[in-house]
Amino acid sequence: MGLMTGKKGIIFGVANDKSIAWGIAQQLREAGAELAFTYLNEALEKRVRPLAESLDAKIILPCDVQNEEEMVAVFSELEKQWGKIDFVVHAIAFANREDLKHPFSQTSREGFRIALDISAYSLVSMTRCALPVLKPGGSIVTLTYLGSVRAVPQYNVMGVAKAALESSVRYLAAELGESGIRVNAVSAGPIKTLAASGIASFKEKLRVAEERAPLKRLVTQDDVGKATLYLLSDLATGVTGEIHYVDGGFNFAAG
Ligand code: NAP
Repeated sequence: MGLMTGKKGIIFGVANDKSIAWGIAQQLREAGAELAFTYLNEALEKRVRPLAESLDAKIILPCDVQNEEEMVAVFSELEKQWGKIDFVVHAIAFANREDLKHPFSQTSREGFRIALDISAYSLVSMTRCALPVLKPGGSIVTLTYLGSVRAVPQYNVMGVAKAALESSVRYLAAELGESGIRVNAVSAGPIKTLAASGIASFKEKLRVAEERAPLKRLVTQDDVGKATLYLLSDLATGVTGEIHYVDGGFNFAAG
């Protein structure tokens, strides 16, 4: 019996086998969870479907988080096929590349809106759509980064979006505690992924993290996957509204 045997849930945010969501999916499956996946559009389905099927997923659905109808459709399909579910993983973020290249004060109004909508508001709308389908005792985990609480060079509008995301985690956790639903975030150290490639000087972030983190190494998708597994499992039944750092200790040790 695995830690997640008998539990079912959905993962938003696998783009390829470098995605943090993919590391999470592998840990959850290994622990016995049954998984559903989403992909952004048809072009990306080609990459996501084979990965999802390799973890025995049968439910693989389109979902652009900016499209409320698609989100509603995802959860009604889950209910149709599975009944109630146990967990949701939100591993989604986006900001226009130009807005990450320019100084923060040059962020466009539209760029600010898009980054906040896709990277933060989507957790709120996803939770709303998931609620009728989530079991009491259900768990939601999102992914964040230290740039929410520090002015990390070049992280700019994404830092503001992550601050909104982390605050949303606390408000959702406060609201849903009574229903027995937990909401937490994992704040990961830098990992080379598609989304990370949009951040200027990302290589420098990797170098600094490796040098200054007490563990003296970069964290991996597996490290993040294991922490997420804990938060989604019954090992964490008393944990909600938490920002759980998985960055080798960088957040407290860096000057
Ligand atoms: P990733 O593999 O590029 O994943 C980002 C995902 O967001 C992709 O699957 C992307 O889909 C999806 N996405 C973007 N816009 C979307 C939309 N409108 N609707 C639905 N999905 C959308 O990069 P990642 O690094 O694993 O990112 C996952 C999460 O971890 C993000 O929240 C990120 O901020 C967070 N995080 C990353 C790091 C890091 O260093 N990598 C550190 C801390 C936290 P497509 O690629 O198909 O467009």
